[in-house]
Amino acid sequence: VNRPGTAKTARVLVVEDEHHLAAGIAENLELEGYRVDVAHDGKSGLERIVRREHDLVVLDVMLPGMDGFAVCRRAREQGCNTPILFLTAKGELGDRLRGLDAGGDDYLAKPFHLEELLLRVKAILRRWEWYTDVPQTESVVRFGQNEFDIHSLQGRSWDGTAHALTQKEAMILKVLSERPAEVVSREEMLEAVWGYEAFPSTRTIDNFILRLRKRFERDPSSPRFFHTVRGVGYRFTPQGEDPPK
Ligand code: CA
Repeated sequence: VNRPGTAKTARVLVVEDEHHLAAGIAENLELEGYRVDVAHDGKSGLERIVRREHDLVVLDVMLPGMDGFAVCRRAREQGCNTPILFLTAKGELGDRLRGLDAGGDDYLAKPFHLEELLLRVKAILRRWEWYTDVPQTESVVRFGQNEFDIHSLQGRSWDGTAHALTQKEAMILKVLSERPAEVVSREEMLEAVWGYEAFPSTRTIDNFILRLRKRFERDPSSPRFFHTVRGVGYRFTPQGEDPPK
């Protein structure tokens, strides 16, 4: 897991095949004080990502050879949980959801203003600092036969399977576990985890909850820990609760 000291010294990998755009992004990030590396295709991007030297990856979807979704999926399969900000071609809902399904954390639709990208990058790194600000002694969350360590991002589910959570999955779990048995609205989760309102849609939260259920619930379609509160948000019960009949 990368542990950025401050946002200013964070290291960002940009994977983008349009050389002009890649150079423009890199230059602007460097002006903000970030250290930046660039890859121009999916294969070399993946090689860089899994070395885990970066605090954030800006990953274009349309890449020659291996596309951004495949790159992200493979990185996650290898247990790499560096946050990934997708650059999607259109910003269509389908593309966004595909990106989140592949294990992405965030997306920005092309064309975008560089200012927007910088704000997004800043927000992602800032939320990460908030997340890691937890005393070591309080870093393990237990629910049922599941456990999750906030610091290492490593979890173990009821069947003994090890899970490397992505940063956003981990952040959502942290927000919920800090307020056990309380209803937490999607808006509150967006504010805490993403730190800005424009993105993502509240549907994104649902997608992340599905990811958590798949990891930790015996029967994800009938959850005991991550409950939907219709029209509002979610409620987490660490002791488990039988689903309504
Ligand atoms: Ca491209």
